[in-house]
Amino acid sequence: MKPFKIVRAKSITDINKVFDAAPRSSYLLAGGIDLMDEIKEGLITPDFLVDIMNMKELKVVRDEQDGLRVGALSTLESLESNSLIATRYPALAQSVASVGTPQIRNVATIGGNLCQRPRCWYYRNKFFDCLKKGGKTCFAVDGQSKYHAVFGGQRCYIVHPSDPAIALISYRAQVDILSVDGIRRQPLTELYVGPGEDILRETRLRSGDTIKTIIVPPIVPGQRSVFLKATERRTQDFALVSVALVITVDHGFITDARLTLGGVAPTPYMVSHVEDEMRGSRIMDLDYTKMGKLAAQGASPLKHNSYKIGLVSSLVETAIRDLAYS
Ligand SMILES: Cc1cc2nc3c(=O)[nH]c(=O)nc-3n(C[C@H](O)[C@H](O)[C@H](O)COP(=O)(O)OP(=O)(O)OC[C@H]3O[C@@H](n4cnc5c(N)ncnc54)[C@H](O)[C@@H]3O)c2cc1C
Ligand code: SF4
Repeated sequence: MKPFKIVRAKSITDINKVFDAAPRSSYLLAGGIDLMDEIKEGLITPDFLVDIMNMKELKVVRDEQDGLRVGALSTLESLESNSLIATRYPALAQSVASVGTPQIRNVATIGGNLCQRPRCWYYRNKFFDCLKKGGKTCFAVDGQSKYHAVFGGQRCYIVHPSDPAIALISYRAQVDILSVDGIRRQPLTELYVGPGEDILRETRLRSGDTIKTIIVPPIVPGQRSVFLKATERRTQDFALVSVALVITVDHGFITDARLTLGGVAPTPYMVSHVEDEMRGSRIMDLDYTKMGKLAAQGASPLKHNSYKIGLVSSLVETAIRDLAYS
């Protein structure tokens, strides 16, 4: 392993100094769960790691008028055990609780989780020089594609790996990003970029950009939410398919719906045609099976992942049914 230096940052100015000097070989370091894997796997060879764990402003979790503010350095464990999140944002609590193991959740931060790199086994193996690493081939197309995308793969069939991102997007979360130009707020959905637009990366973050806070809008009367995840193993496993559904019900009618899927596309997959069908319907009269099938419409599986189509349908059906009877 090539030696690298760790620089401890206390402010965005400290971060910028390092990234200005070495923009291509500097990386932000939070809990280090994914970043250290990338280094050990030989996927990146940094000169500098900028340790941001001492930046106090990134650790604040506060309930404010415009929503819940979650500092990017909050550990997943701290969110899992937060009683306000458990009662108001159950899908978020369920998603963080589903990540890895207690040991991982004790160290992993929410900011790092949202920015983790894909799990594609060809990407993770330094001997496969695939399109995402600047090579000429996507090995998943003719190779082993069990865990790959069934929607939206354009030349690269990675699936978005973060469970909390799926829940946060269904809550219409936004992120505050610190950069050399100050601070900017944007919807979390806009953080992510698909391979059709940029095959080499998964977020639009520029060199040195640092997620400061995630803002989750306040809950509204009648809001119900759920996160469900299908995995191959019982614990310590990424989603084969995950579903986050947030709805608002008024006098038995669905007035708002937001459905996001994970594990099926290179970016979090928002199923707007199902949301449209749900809005205005009486929740007890909805055909849950039909909604599940509708969610899987347009899927285009590779050789080994057509099983995901059935999983999408059954998870979406279960999610709607759960919320109808909750
Ligand atoms: C065995 C195992 C099982 C797992 N299972 C799951 C799972 O089921 N579901 C799931 O969602 N995840 C899972 N993960 C992934 C894990 O949750 C992430 O690797 C972890 O959350 C990353 O957080 P971190 O703080 O360690 O980030 P780091 O590893 O420090 O950083 C990850 C990336 O984010 C960047 N970064 C970190 N903080 C910021 C910030 N504030 N702003 C901008 N960029 C930043 C870093 O530069 C780096 O590129 C699993 C990981 C392992 C090893
Ligand atoms: S799916 Fe993407 S990351 Fe995986 S082998 Fe193909 S190009 Fe590489």
